Amino acid sequence: MPEIIRTTCPYCGVGCGVIAARLDQSAPWTVKGDPEHPANYGKLCVKGSALAETLDLDGRLLHPLISGNRASWDEALDLVAETFSTAVREHGPDSVAFYVSGQLLTEDYYAANKLMKGFIGSGNIDTNSRLCMSSTVAGHVRAFGSDTVPGCYEDLDLADLVVLVGSNAAWCHPVAFQRTLAAKARRPEMRIVVVDPRRTATAECADLHLAIRPGSDAILFNGLLAHLKGEETQLDVGVPLDQIVQFFSWFADTEKTVTVWSQGINQSSSGTDKVDAIINCHLQTGRIGRPGMGPFSLTGQPNAMGGREVGGLANMLAAHMGFDEASIDRVGRFWNATQMAGKPGLKAVDMFKAVAEGKIKALWIMCTNPAVSMPEADLVKSAIAACPFVVISECEANTDTARLAHVKLPALTWGEKDGTVTNSERRISRQRPFLPAPGEAKGDWWIITQVARRMGFGPAFAWNGPGEIFDEFCRLTAFENASTRDLDLSGLVGADYAAIEPIQWPVRAPGQGTARLFADGRFYHADGKARMLDITPRPPARAADLAFPLILNTGRMRDQWHTMTRTGRAARLAAHAPEPVLLVHPKDALRFRLSDGGLARVSGNRTSVVLRVALDPGQRIGEVFAPIHWNDQTASSAVIGSLIDAATDPHSGQPELKQAPVLVEPLEAA
Ligand code: SF4
Repeated sequence: MPEIIRTTCPYCGVGCGVIAARLDQSAPWTVKGDPEHPANYGKLCVKGSALAETLDLDGRLLHPLISGNRASWDEALDLVAETFSTAVREHGPDSVAFYVSGQLLTEDYYAANKLMKGFIGSGNIDTNSRLCMSSTVAGHVRAFGSDTVPGCYEDLDLADLVVLVGSNAAWCHPVAFQRTLAAKARRPEMRIVVVDPRRTATAECADLHLAIRPGSDAILFNGLLAHLKGEETQLDVGVPLDQIVQFFSWFADTEKTVTVWSQGINQSSSGTDKVDAIINCHLQTGRIGRPGMGPFSLTGQPNAMGGREVGGLANMLAAHMGFDEASIDRVGRFWNATQMAGKPGLKAVDMFKAVAEGKIKALWIMCTNPAVSMPEADLVKSAIAACPFVVISECEANTDTARLAHVKLPALTWGEKDGTVTNSERRISRQRPFLPAPGEAKGDWWIITQVARRMGFGPAFAWNGPGEIFDEFCRLTAFENASTRDLDLSGLVGADYAAIEPIQWPVRAPGQGTARLFADGRFYHADGKARMLDITPRPPARAADLAFPLILNTGRMRDQWHTMTRTGRAARLAAHAPEPVLLVHPKDALRFRLSDGGLARVSGNRTSVVLRVALDPGQRIGEVFAPIHWNDQTASSAVIGSLIDAATDPHSGQPELKQAPVLVEPLEAA
């Protein structure tokens, strides 16, 4: 009997629909794109199409472990609940913290957030999405009064000009980029502009590539804004003037313009300002929320957006509410909270600093690997190792972080777990299970719920499944004046969870999603108006100097995802880039005595990593690039995060992951 399950890809924020199928119970599962899913209409990138090759159980955490010894679920859950309760009792609510992940499903996120902010009484829950898109959240809130993506993927089909800023979408959001290229193939007069210091695969497809000086994005968009206003402007962004004139002229003359951005904008110590410098240009021209036009951020992770919705960020409550008095009161009453957090908690970088300072007595890390992925990863790893009590809920047994944990709780992963995710265009889709739970692994929502009950909060955590959690979340969005907020899911209250079709919020009536917002000129600030922020561009936190003369940019490879815990299982994905390489401009290679294919030591303030050099004339002179995926287990000494300082954006707390001064030496001379 054939089996067919419609679900959603677990990798990037494009959120492609996936069909998992097998002919009968003895046949292997196959994966293909869902032709009916509006994010991808059947297309998948190479990562998505290799999903069926990543389903084996090698390296999986299959049973609860306490200090490395197998334990029962009851023993492990009792220990976690008791230790967290004791820490809260003896040291206060802010002595504990959850560090969670954009890989969690919305229901998992909601449960964790409710436990920490409504019952433990602290804001100390933050997510690895802090590293990915929190500058966009802060930029949206400042400009629109809400964290709202105004447009949708269809705008990429309809635009006459697509500007991609700090986004290698060809590799990092491939299906969305393929839509753009398909639109250009249909309408050759459509133009693509790429703003990126590197000549990436995306830039190769552009009509115009502005290889600006790293960090000068706000100068460029401030200049564009002045041009749109008819004012004089002077720019120094490190590219020839005729290219700037061309870009400004195309932008000014093209009504249907979409500006897409991603980590190159967000991962900056002035990321929020850069986001608002871009949004300013769309507000100035009124190109927002109408077909084929608007500012559009691409989220990195599959459910970064869902985390934003339910309060996965330490400075937000659930349902897009902030820590203002009315929202604290409203959420607290809805939850019947016993101890409502009264202030924002620690953002990711500050959370691990607090761990290092001994202020966090119990830390629960869910579905993420901060010992590799955080800036100053070496210090983060030491801090976790020194924390009195660390819990991980994970599917992998031996991540760099898992190896430091006192208690390991086996979690379900993609193909096994059940819930919802939201993609970059606000589209909620179901992730549905098609595989049995391996070993004793459980859903994250279940694990959190069990701990909450053991901490004495049973009545508020009485859910029997993710569908009940989703329904509670939808009811919260509709609770008291939902119409004054963007995230209104009242049309999904009481929906048949098993049958929910992909739909974009707000959903104000059953089956009626919303493709675009703000076309009516009404925003979510109290006066209904948007804000054009006056942006003063700031350089990166640290410049290159004599000791560290090159700037290290970091990012993703086409065929890998995060720390490769899933993509590393597929041999054909590894073939694209079997090891991490340092991309170096040939002139820099000459200057620093580096040879193509030779090994180089890359040194930051505290640590070094060793990488193979690849010459790349697409690099800007003075800048090198390394991928983020590898770690001490998958490559010799290659935790790139240890080279990066934890400088953060003052508004968003997002770290500057793309501009780290480094010294690069040939290994034999190091
Ligand atoms: Fe998955 Fe993103 Fe590729 Fe779509 S584009 S298949 S969501 S990795």
